[in-house]
Amino acid sequence: MIRLSGIRKSFGRSEVLKGIELTVGKGEVVAILGPSGSGKTTLLRCINYLERPSDGTIHIGDFVLDCRHAGKKEIHALRQRSAMVFQQYNLFAHKTALENVMEGLIVVKKLNKTEARKRGIQLLEKVGLGAKLDAYPSQLSGGQQQRVGIARALAMEPEVILLDEPTSALDPELVGEVLAVIRQIAREGITMIIVTHEMGFAQEVANHVVFMDGGVIVEEGSPAELFGRPKEERTKQFLKRLI
Ligand code: ADP
Repeated sequence: MIRLSGIRKSFGRSEVLKGIELTVGKGEVVAILGPSGSGKTTLLRCINYLERPSDGTIHIGDFVLDCRHAGKKEIHALRQRSAMVFQQYNLFAHKTALENVMEGLIVVKKLNKTEARKRGIQLLEKVGLGAKLDAYPSQLSGGQQQRVGIARALAMEPEVILLDEPTSALDPELVGEVLAVIRQIAREGITMIIVTHEMGFAQEVANHVVFMDGGVIVEEGSPAELFGRPKEERTKQFLKRLI
């Protein structure tokens, strides 16, 4: 479904991704863990080409992109296949919740306004915001804004949804409602890659857990393997610090 091979990324002279290999099956939920600065966010951004990898290939479904030769057309095609949910929501401040979701439906999916409206309402109902269609982001809590962000990503019907620490900007009492929505869409079999610090959630929802440190994948496995029987010293140290 998704295969990353030899993904490298440097900022100036510092190489922050040092040849990442990762395979994600259809419908899988992959959690990426690791200390701050280990390259988790950069990896996610590379998959959606918000950062241009210095090297490597990205397979999504039957689409292959060679990062050394990718032009506008390939990057556009890649972005059609993935959607990002950001830490800071990144909603349009001057658009309502519904308009935020409709935007991509009209611009990218080419639906007419009536169809986009209908679909937008369905999606906002799905994330529990049927009563907030006309609210502006400033009138919504962080948890509600993030649920609009998730509805907006779902609207693109991407092959994979990339979530970059989707709950880290939220007050603790709002984390649960966002995790509940992610849990629900995971159950529907949508492929997701989530960078998260929520270990309990990763353990519960992910099929596959990846531990990164220093720009490499140190270890990966099922939640039971990675949390219960970590093999690598760096993984053990990381997990120990969290307890
Ligand atoms: P993580 O998500 O694991 O905390 P990041 O991917 O955000 O790690 O960052 C990995 C490294 O890349 C860090 O050392 C960070 O300072 C650096 N980095 C990230 N983005 C940029 C950028 N736009 N310019 C320069 N350095 C960056």
